[in-house]
Formats: sequence, C-alpha cells, structure tokens
Amino acid sequence: MQRSGWLLILVLIAAIGIGGFAWYRFEGESPGLQAPEAELVIGKNGMKLDLRASDARSGLRSLHVAVAQPAGEKVLFDESYPGNLLSGGTRSEQATTVQLDPATLGPLTGPATLSISVRDWSWRGAFSGNETRRDLPLRVDLEPPRIEVTSGISGITYVRQGGSGSVAYRVSEPTARDGVRVGTAEFRGFPRKGGGANERIALFAFPTGIDAKSPVRVFAEDAAGNSSEAGWAVVVQPYVQPEGKVQLTQTFLEQVVPRLAPGGAAGDVAFQEVNTRVRAENEKKIRELAANTAPELLFTGNLHQLANSKVTSRFGEKRIYMVDGREISRAVHFGYDLASLSGAPVTATAAGRVLYAGDLGIYGNCVVLDHGLGLASLYGHLSRIDVEPDARVEGDQRLGLTGATGLAGGDHLHFATLIGNTYVDPIEWWDAKWVADHVAPNLNPQPIAQ
Ligand SMILES: [Zn+2]
Repeated sequence: MQRSGWLLILVLIAAIGIGGFAWYRFEGESPGLQAPEAELVIGKNGMKLDLRASDARSGLRSLHVAVAQPAGEKVLFDESYPGNLLSGGTRSEQATTVQLDPATLGPLTGPATLSISVRDWSWRGAFSGNETRRDLPLRVDLEPPRIEVTSGISGITYVRQGGSGSVAYRVSEPTARDGVRVGTAEFRGFPRKGGGANERIALFAFPTGIDAKSPVRVFAEDAAGNSSEAGWAVVVQPYVQPEGKVQLTQTFLEQVVPRLAPGGAAGDVAFQEVNTRVRAENEKKIRELAANTAPELLFTGNLHQLANSKVTSRFGEKRIYMVDGREISRAVHFGYDLASLSGAPVTATAAGRVLYAGDLGIYGNCVVLDHGLGLASLYGHLSRIDVEPDARVEGDQRLGLTGATGLAGGDHLHFATLIGNTYVDPIEWWDAKWVADHVAPNLNPQPIAQ
C-alpha cells in the first residue's frame, strides 16, 4: 500500500477516535438534583433547605442557589467543582444545606423565586454543560394563624378528666397542623363538615394521668411554622382513680402468662414482663393504628354498649396485682370489662372501619375500629374474629365472639375507646344525651337562633 493510503487510514482512525471521544464528552444526561419541588414558605424561624446534586457521567461543575425578585437577585450558594473539558470533573456528588432566613433574605418586594441550578462538565450547551434547574415560588409568612373558638353558645365546655370533649373553631388561613392541646397531649383538628374552608372541629380527651388544672387550648400552625394558641372556658371535673386488687391465681400464672411471656415462661417474673414491656408494645401498636382515622365521623348518634352485658370492671381503675398477699405489679385498666354468656356475639359499638383484626398480645384476638375524627374502639380477648382489616362495618354488625384470649382469666369482652393517643371513658359516648349536648352541636354549623 502507498504511503498516502496508510496516512488516510491513520487519519480515519484518529477521526473516529476523536469523534468517539467528542461524542462521549458530548453526553446529554442531566445532573441529578434532590431538592424540594413545591412552593417554599418561610416563617420567622427560617428554613433549612437540604440539597443533593449528582452527576456520574461528566462530574459536577457547579451548584448555584439564588433568590430572584423584582428588586434583584441574591445569591445564597455558589460553588464550582474541579474539572476540565477534556477529562470532565472529579466530583460526582455534593450535598449542602442552605439556610433561608427572613432576616438575610430581606423584605421581599414582590413575587420571589428560589432557583437551584446544577451543571456538569459535558460539552453540551456550547461547552457550559448539561443543566438541571428548579425554580420554586418563595414566600415569607411571619403571620401566625388567628384562631376563633366558635363552639358553645354558653361559651363553657364541661369535661371530665378521663372523658371527652369537642370544640369548633375557625382559623384565619389554611393550617399545616391544628387541634387541641391538653397539657402535652395533642388531638388533631379536622374540617368541619358543611362549614367554610377554615372551619374546624376537634375531639379531645382530658387524660387521667395529668394535673386537672392543665390548660386546654386550641392550637394552629401554618406551613411556615408560625403557630398560635387560643383558650376558651373549660371546666374540668377532676378524676378520682379507683383502686382494685387483682388476685392472680397459680392457674393464671402457669397457664395464661406463658402464652405471652418470652420463651413461654410462667410465674410472677414472667407476668411482670408481660404486664410492663409486652403491654407497652401492644399499647404503642394500638396508638399507631388509631392514628389512621377518617376526617369525618363515620356514625351518627351515640356508641352502644354490648347488648346484654354486665360491667365487671370500669375505666381508669388502678389495678394492683397480688400473688399470695404480695403486690407484684400495677397497671391502669383503660377500658371496660363486659361479661356476657361465654362465646357471646361481639358487635360494633357504632359504624366504622376495621383498623385491625388479629392477635394483639395482651388483648388476644382483637379488633380495632376507626369511627372518624380520631375516635377508635377496641374489642379484646375474642375467641373468634369475623371481620377483615379495612372493611367498613355497620353499627351492631358482628365482629366476632367473646373469649379469653390474651391476658384474660375468663371469657369477657375488654372494650375500650380512644381519642387520638388517649384512652377515654366510653360511658359518655354510650349516652345519647351526652353526645347530643357535647359533640353534635360542633359537628354541623348550627342555625343562628332567632
Ligand atoms: Zn379489660
């Protein structure tokens, strides 16, 4: 072959090589960006913005964060990363946190936009690289929501410690979180059916374990984290905790306790473990289940006590567990024990949705129902379960049969009601007049009396 022929081949190989390299460096894969995707609302405490940029192909070239508004642009973050157009960049990932403060942002003069831009070392964009860009509307909101309590013509709410209450209120703007605070316990607010956009209702409990003088307040927090509270006249009837001694029999310690104790252990120590650690685990699970509530009441009227049942143990009783005259453990009984015939049908206390149907430790075969607005009911120690999780049930629908599963000495129904995280005495909810007086007026807007 002639010399010129070889040269042509070499030039062709070089051209293909350079072309291939150029093609490789001309990649069009946009850098990755993990950042918020919706409008940002900044409150007085500001906001931490976590960003993560990545580019595996050509490497990161720059990360730029700025706020643009009619008065001009303010750069909040600007970094360039090492690299060159020939070999690309060396950094494939970069994480950073940008602090957005109302003070450093200054007064916003008009619509503002937070722009995040990430570039890589590709040859695209006339050698300025591929860009991933996000423009987010940005708002500063230093105004806390205003709250107006609208419930109760007389203006006074009477609540029993261990019992329930309800309140209707209006907020001045959409909230991220609102409800009622009783001491440190919080109860969620929900839209008030048939009310305006910012009309809210909350069911709440006054827990037994706290000071009866603990304040009861409506709270509201907006998306920017601005929060406010409002009180109203609440009269609390303090709770007197009844005490009861429970004598544990050898049969109970040797036959019931091993069902629940780790390793099937029997005796006093095993009972103590079940009555503290296992109980606490079960209660934690119940509260997680109960959080899954509907934003409206799923029943009308009141709850119903199990038909033909006799109360054998009441709500809130402090139980002292005894073996041979010695105290070995304590617990508060946050439900009612209802005795009926052995294997009696257990019916729903009211219409609702099944949150749980299965084994629940000390409660044995257990059904938990949601009734909406944070109100839930629990049925323990069943010998048989007839409903499936997530099913809608009617009031009085059969859920199963009574039994003695879990930590039970004999056939009975353990029935309990909760609002949010807190057990409440069902006796109020069983009373049609109490519901009519204490809850119903807040469920629907009442016509103004003429
Ligand atoms: Zn019980």
